[in-house]
Amino acid sequence: MPSKLPAAICFRITRSCNAHCSFCLAPPEGSHPDPAALQFRLDWLIDRGVRSVQFCGGEPTTHPALPQLIAHVHARGVKTSLCSNALAINGALLPLLRATRTRVRVSLHGNRSHHDAIVGAGCYDMTTHNLRRLLTAGVSTSLQTTVVSGGSTAVEWAVAFCLEQGVGRLGILPFIPRGAGKEQRAKFGLSESERRALRDLVALKRRELSGRLDLRWLDFTAGSIPVVETDGRLLLEGATEAMDRLLCIIPDAPSGTQDVGMKRQN
Ligand code: SF4
Repeated sequence: MPSKLPAAICFRITRSCNAHCSFCLAPPEGSHPDPAALQFRLDWLIDRGVRSVQFCGGEPTTHPALPQLIAHVHARGVKTSLCSNALAINGALLPLLRATRTRVRVSLHGNRSHHDAIVGAGCYDMTTHNLRRLLTAGVSTSLQTTVVSGGSTAVEWAVAFCLEQGVGRLGILPFIPRGAGKEQRAKFGLSESERRALRDLVALKRRELSGRLDLRWLDFTAGSIPVVETDGRLLLEGATEAMDRLLCIIPDAPSGTQDVGMKRQN
């Protein structure tokens, strides 16, 4: 156990998903921890100094306890954010996201044909519809776009989309060969020169768009990200699984811990 935990972590609340993207970093394998176990882990982390929790998955909106867990973390004075494919955003979630000032990062990888080829037929229309609902509801919403080999035009496309839709922040993630992406390295992997050119393009655009769009370069190869997996391990995750480092394992909740949903009804 390290003496100090990272202040900001990604927290996988499920490894279930309503999509099957060909380059998924954390492919759906069905693990869906129960709410009490998740709440116990969150409390454990907050008690040890974590101040910002990004709910991720899988697709976090497929877990029925997501609203309660966001509300719980917020009530403990910790910042919340959510990473989502925005295929299905329940209407009841919108006021909660707004009230808790949860930042939502929506994944959209390019125009309709490109996005649907990666995520699934019809997904572009569902995601863009829900992105507009989030914006209309006053939820702080940004876009994140994964760029694959030969796909640098996705940057220009995503910039134009954000400006048109009133999205204030865009993160560009160069493809990494992690999870399902391992099998796709030959098809999607960026060469060193492609990665450099892409990074330079993002830096140039960032300067050009200053004051209009907060454009960011989010490269997993440049560092590791603290992630709590669905089995309770806290890892520093790198660009490949071989680069991961185990920080600690969060202990199991004591038996008899109340279910989050049950607690709310009492
Ligand atoms: S990348 Fe996201 S949306 Fe796509 S399968 Fe993985 S978890 Fe689901």
